[in-house]
Amino acid sequence: MRGSRAVPADRSARTSGATLPGGDVEVRRSSRRRRTVTAYRESGRTVVLIPAAFSPAEERRWVAQMVAKLQTREERRRRSLGGDDELMARARALSAAHLDGVPQPASVRWVDNQNRRWGSCTPADRTIRLSTRLRAMPEYVVDYVLVHELAHLVEPSHDARFWSLVARYPRAERARGFLEGVELGSAHGTSSAGDDDLD
Ligand SMILES: [Zn+2]
Repeated sequence: MRGSRAVPADRSARTSGATLPGGDVEVRRSSRRRRTVTAYRESGRTVVLIPAAFSPAEERRWVAQMVAKLQTREERRRRSLGGDDELMARARALSAAHLDGVPQPASVRWVDNQNRRWGSCTPADRTIRLSTRLRAMPEYVVDYVLVHELAHLVEPSHDARFWSLVARYPRAERARGFLEGVELGSAHGTSSAGDDDLD
């Protein structure tokens, strides 16, 4: 740094915006990063973390590569999560593996209209619905929401017995942390009150 052309050290991230096919992309440069590039989705945007030293050409190349990689990963996930039949099979397997096969849902479906809930359950007719927003999330998070709703078939309220059932799923805590992070970062806020929401 010399003379009047000195610029502040790039300690904090600089942000620039770009739009690529597949939505908004936010590029954050970090002086702490040397070589690693990371990308993830956040509130409907794609965030790409790159080293501060990258040239504009490197930035373009890496952003395109990371966006393509995310899309491939999400596509693979959509295929493995499948439709309602696959979701039902998954719920049955989770019930058998973690809840002694006691919860037997009558139907398990994906729904588009649950913007404030990840999942819901109606114990009276043993139906479970999962928000299609979960399709973009890791499978262990989808499984957690299924286990949560399955546990409601045994215990409708969020009492101690309910949580002890949910805790049988080994990654329950981690999945709850993941969903809390998503809720904090999204305009949807936390889930609404109600006996079948996921909290
Ligand atoms: Zn619940």
